[in-house]
Amino acid sequence: MPATMTDMMIKADQVYKSFGQLSVLKGVDLAVKRSEVVAIIGSSGSGKSTLLRCLNHLEQIDSGNIAIANEWMVQNNTQDQAVYQPERQIKQICAKMGMVFQHFNLFPHMTVLQNVIEAPMIVKKIKRDEIVPLAQELLSKVGLLAKQNDYPSQLSGGQKQRVAIARALAMQPEIMLFDEPTSALDPELTGEVLKTMQKLAEDKMTMVIVTHEMGFAREVADTVLFMDSGIIVESGPAKSLIDHPQNLRTQEFLSSMF
Ligand code: ADP
Ligand code: MG
Repeated sequence: MPATMTDMMIKADQVYKSFGQLSVLKGVDLAVKRSEVVAIIGSSGSGKSTLLRCLNHLEQIDSGNIAIANEWMVQNNTQDQAVYQPERQIKQICAKMGMVFQHFNLFPHMTVLQNVIEAPMIVKKIKRDEIVPLAQELLSKVGLLAKQNDYPSQLSGGQKQRVAIARALAMQPEIMLFDEPTSALDPELTGEVLKTMQKLAEDKMTMVIVTHEMGFAREVADTVLFMDSGIIVESGPAKSLIDHPQNLRTQEFLSSMF
């Protein structure tokens, strides 16, 4: 296979998704290479969350093709309808992706450490003795090893989100999807979460990040996509897209952000 194929971690072509009469994704194309950091920006309601949710099969697409790490998850048939792989295969494919949401969704009755080891133990059947050292390494990476025995209610929002990141990483994903990870945080707490994500980028994690943090997108992302009304209107290298947007709608959106 040519290098460009083997290095492609997400390839989505002409993805369409409606909820009833409402067309939300109207032919989205997305290509993410290994170790690439892609930021998706755009107004509320433009379909950013739906796109992420379609990538890891939290939503089913109507039409289009999606491949993850060169493996087809869903592909159009000759009638242009999306046909999914069997459920078992989809689970394996989606296990390559970790996702972090705006609301951290930690288990409130479990300690920080238990939150991080739960999925690997239950889903991957990894023994507690084996997963605890990895979990502790990840907690130390996000700066929260000292909090391993605390409960989520004892943490700040920024700390909770960093636990959520460690929890996603404990499944050892090849790709991380972030859906507005700092939008629910007080401004003084966003920095610590963005820094954690920046470290992941430096470690060459492949990431797709929906964000309203334009400074972060400009500095950390390789590529920025501007989404509007279910279409990727403009995409390009982060700095050039943010500093010199070509499309009128991108220009309007960005000037409303600064
Ligand atoms: P964004 O993340 O860019 O704010 P979303 O992807 O959340 O946008 O939503 C895009 C549109 O799809 C919105 O109009 C939203 O109300 C609608 N939508 C999202 N999820 C659902 C759903 N499960 N059922 C019906 N409509 C939905
Ligand atoms: Mg959203």
